[in-house]
Amino acid sequence: MNAMERMQRRIFRDQKKQERLLKKYGKPRHYAGRCEECGCKEPNPVQYIDESNISITYNSPYLCRDCYIKKYGAYPHRKARLAR
Ligand SMILES: [Zn+2]
Repeated sequence: MNAMERMQRRIFRDQKKQERLLKKYGKPRHYAGRCEECGCKEPNPVQYIDESNISITYNSPYLCRDCYIKKYGAYPHRKARLAR
């Protein structure tokens, strides 16, 4: 196998990986209507968004603003993307 073939194979593998990740994490996690830290009712939760890692975003808890600030030490810049 020459270098060109190896490169093409790697690109193909990466694409497959991305597709798998999108399938798994493309839709937001279900939100039960309560902050996942303190349990208060929160109709507009916020969630940590990691632009480079979709699985981190997916698994980040839905939080009320107070809990978000406590957890991440910063004000959320975006509302959580919720499953409808
Ligand atoms: Zn909370």
